[in-house]
Amino acid sequence: MLRDQMLTQLQQTPQWDIVIIGGGATGLGCAVDAASRGFKTLLVEQHDFAKGTSSRSTKLVHGGVRYLAQGNIKLVKEALRERAYLLRNAPHVTSTMAFVVPVYSWWDKWFYGIGLKMYQLLAGKLSLGKTKWLNKRKTLQELPGINDEKLKGGILYYDGQFDDARLAIDLAKTAIQQGATAINYCKAQSFIKQDNRITAVVIKDEINNNAYTVKAKTFINATGVFADAVMQMDEPHKDNLIAPSQGIHVVVDRNFFSGNNALMIPKTDDGRVLFAVPWHNKVILGTTDTPVKHISIEPKPLEEEIGFILHHANRYLTKTITRKEIRSVFVGLRPLIKKGGNATTSLLSRDHTILVSKSRLITVSGGKWTTYRKMAEDVIDKAIQIAQLPQKTCITRQLSIQASRIEAATNSKDFLHAGFHYTAQDIQYFVTEEMAIKVEDVLARRTRILFLNATIASTVAPIVAQQMANLLQRDEQWVQDEITTFTQLANQYRLADA
Ligand SMILES: Cc1cc2nc3c(=O)[nH]c(=O)nc-3n(C[C@H](O)[C@H](O)[C@H](O)COP(=O)(O)OP(=O)(O)OC[C@H]3O[C@@H](n4cnc5c(N)ncnc54)[C@H](O)[C@@H]3O)c2cc1C
Repeated sequence: MLRDQMLTQLQQTPQWDIVIIGGGATGLGCAVDAASRGFKTLLVEQHDFAKGTSSRSTKLVHGGVRYLAQGNIKLVKEALRERAYLLRNAPHVTSTMAFVVPVYSWWDKWFYGIGLKMYQLLAGKLSLGKTKWLNKRKTLQELPGINDEKLKGGILYYDGQFDDARLAIDLAKTAIQQGATAINYCKAQSFIKQDNRITAVVIKDEINNNAYTVKAKTFINATGVFADAVMQMDEPHKDNLIAPSQGIHVVVDRNFFSGNNALMIPKTDDGRVLFAVPWHNKVILGTTDTPVKHISIEPKPLEEEIGFILHHANRYLTKTITRKEIRSVFVGLRPLIKKGGNATTSLLSRDHTILVSKSRLITVSGGKWTTYRKMAEDVIDKAIQIAQLPQKTCITRQLSIQASRIEAATNSKDFLHAGFHYTAQDIQYFVTEEMAIKVEDVLARRTRILFLNATIASTVAPIVAQQMANLLQRDEQWVQDEITTFTQLANQYRLADA
């Protein structure tokens, strides 16, 4: 089992160059970068890789049209560059997608048309295709199922799409291939200091309950919305840096929105952007931007957020979506950085921030999935400087990301479910080669069944639990506990009246 190998490496290494805390997009990107520069790298994740925000995004590899409207050209240009690198380096989990903005006034047609043309031009040679003005007939062809009342036409532009959690797992494998050790279900609990400098971190293996003291030359806090908790392990009285903002997504069947293109609504009632994006044969609708006080690893959707998304989707689609038709609701927290005085989270910085504490803990937060590679490059450059590591150049712009070896099964008898063509062999691969430890790891992140249809995920959970128990040598009690825990989780993704 790969995880056992990782634990052995953890115990046999007397000192690491770099220890990374957090196995989301940011931490995994740092691990790939550090290992590929030749540094002795350890990454620890308290739950499963991408259990946090990094499995709960809108799945867009994008420059951020919204940031263009806010005038943040630098951020958009950087993200457009990163979009191109990601599409090139991970073609197995990314794709180009056409987005259409329906317009209902001539002013909007020009306003959004010019903005989205600029978006194309800002990408320069890395553009994914030309932005086009569409007449009403063509808009209805490109967006079947859209409301045509007062429709004047549309704008079509191109952006990227991806499978976030799959990319995260593949980044973990790439980091390992490059020589890193990366372990899930290992939580950083406290720091050990000498002469006011952090010299070690105590981590706990949540599966075996073992604790390890891990020495390193430098430590990176890449824990997203949990960054304050880790910074306060270093400086207990430190003020909070993060202003978390919640975003929910609703998943429905394709018959509500059957075309291959995505719908982009540039301005909802409260001035946000809303998407309807085809994904794995379903449609993702979202997202919201709700400031929250409480940080949870499994945040819950608010009733008003669900109402907000259905209200706007139903305004644009001809077939009405009701709560009963929702297949899954998933919720993520944005790790936005506080900036004094801003009233709403939609105006807070989406840029990333790197901070170094007196005891030399490097904290990275903010940013977005699309720019994870650039964030990692900046962080590892900083780590080299702080820990006086040998200067080695970043190579991740050109580095291919490892694809998983899931075979396309052909015999429907072998499928886990008629709608999801995974087999027993795939589950074995997830457990032995991808460190899946719990039923949720298979159904939420190695496959995306929980995010696509929470009811089906509950139905197949007992089969997955039994097979995992055989592979991991767990008893019947483990199987029952896993089924109970997973069913409770799936109930949160499924609305009570759905
Ligand atoms: C609703 C929503 C939609 C989004 N859509 C997009 C999009 O379409 N495109 C895009 O580019 N970006 C998008 N983003 C942004 C993007 O998802 C995030 O910027 C990114 O996932 C953040 O990754 P992260 O690694 O910083 O945080 P996380 O993914 O939260 O990872 C942090 C990890 O640290 C772990 N951790 C915490 N404490 C400890 C500890 N003590 N020890 C060990 N591990 C610990 C956590 O368990 C967690 O897994 C979206 C964000 C949201 C919320």
